[in-house]
Amino acid sequence: MSDLQVRVAPTSRLKLRKSAEKVRSLLGVKVPGFPSDAFDLLLSGNFPEYKFDVLEADIMGPHHGLTEPDQKIMFLREDVYEGAMRGDGRDRFTFAHELGHLLLHSGNYLARYDPSAPNPTHKKYEDSEWQADNFAAELLMPIAAVKKCADPTELMEMCEVSYMAASVRFDVLRQGGLIK
Ligand SMILES: [Zn+2]
Repeated sequence: MSDLQVRVAPTSRLKLRKSAEKVRSLLGVKVPGFPSDAFDLLLSGNFPEYKFDVLEADIMGPHHGLTEPDQKIMFLREDVYEGAMRGDGRDRFTFAHELGHLLLHSGNYLARYDPSAPNPTHKKYEDSEWQADNFAAELLMPIAAVKKCADPTELMEMCEVSYMAASVRFDVLRQGGLIK
């Protein structure tokens, strides 16, 4: 994951859920999770207003993904892209997280990153990273999928995510009263 915690226009989990559902519907994704093939549909021009590219590790350096929402462009490091295509949970989450930045944050940056103030003081729902993480969780682990699973291990296997992502997803939905 890239990135700097930047203040952006506020949003809610519900709005992030709707955005993720829109992407799933545009790509015709009907299975419980989000198949890696669907990521490839993005790269092959299903969102013509956006540009996606896969760059070699010597260009990307330590960055797994980089997105410039205002320029509508998103880059993934080659090994991360390949990992996502293989079904690696962490790489799939990175792909979905960067997609969140791309779709949600164009024209929405309210502040620039200030290196002298490393601890952001804005609210979490105004935070670019919180929003991208929650978009990714909604995209990869829709509530309907979580409801089919007894525990994070089952969700991890069904939705091809890391144990950590599955576990956080369970906790968030339980706290929100959306699952038991
Ligand atoms: Zn990010």
